Amino acid sequence: MPRVYAVVNQKGGVGKTTTAINVAANLPDLGLSGLIVDMDPQGNTTSGLGIDRTGLSTSVYNVIIDAADINEAVQASRVPGLDILPSHRALAGAEIELIGLPRRERRLLYALESLRRAYDYIIIDCPPSLGLLTVNCLVAAEFMLIPIQCEYYALEGLGALTHTTQLIQRDLNPRLKIGGIVLTLFDPRLTLAWQVAEQVRNQYPEQTFRTVIPRNVRLSEAPSHGMPISQYDPTSRGAVAYHELTKELIAQ
Ligand code: ADP
Ligand code: MG
Repeated sequence: MPRVYAVVNQKGGVGKTTTAINVAANLPDLGLSGLIVDMDPQGNTTSGLGIDRTGLSTSVYNVIIDAADINEAVQASRVPGLDILPSHRALAGAEIELIGLPRRERRLLYALESLRRAYDYIIIDCPPSLGLLTVNCLVAAEFMLIPIQCEYYALEGLGALTHTTQLIQRDLNPRLKIGGIVLTLFDPRLTLAWQVAEQVRNQYPEQTFRTVIPRNVRLSEAPSHGMPISQYDPTSRGAVAYHELTKELIAQ
């Protein structure tokens, strides 16, 4: 059975996609196979791994909405050992289309259950909302990986996420739990960043990963080259941090 992580936080720009890509891309180096699922209509994970979204015939949209065979939609990424289920712009409409479909909260779960290949890890990149797409992610996952940006209002919105999580645990997926909180975009020159980090650690002492992801320009450059940081600049501070984070995560 794969370990399934949903990278979730309904705030945009907190490092979900960067974390999903760079944790997933480190798995093969650590001897583990992975599948990354791009559930965000913006498709930044798909393009960030060098896949041209305009040329896709089958995507996660067809899998979720048309019940297309997931095995036909999955493709190899340019990281050996990492496959991807790409996103598509049409997924933007799926939030509404799902409402009228049977088992609307479980479509991703059922799709993942019919994967022919056995992966060690499945990493799902969630969209920045708590709508039906994210509900599908949280029903399909066992662990939530929550990136928190070390800036103002970092903890704002965690109440809503906790509430959604409780409803899903009660009604749809009792196995769901926090797999960890990761502090992202950390700038050590800012007093505020240290304060936020301390506040998060005080509030979630058990759940917060030791590894902190620094603000590092190489991390923001890598996606435009279609590469994870481990390929784009493996000795950068960002690459080292994501490698450490991945080791912490697989040790759980
Ligand atoms: P989300 O998926 O939560 O919206 P992203 O991972 O797309 O967030 O990050 C938002 C923006 O910040 C992107 O342009 C990304 O390249 C950049 N970014 C993310 N993490 C870092 C980091 N640690 N250092 C520098 N830039 C980062
Ligand atoms: Mg994103």
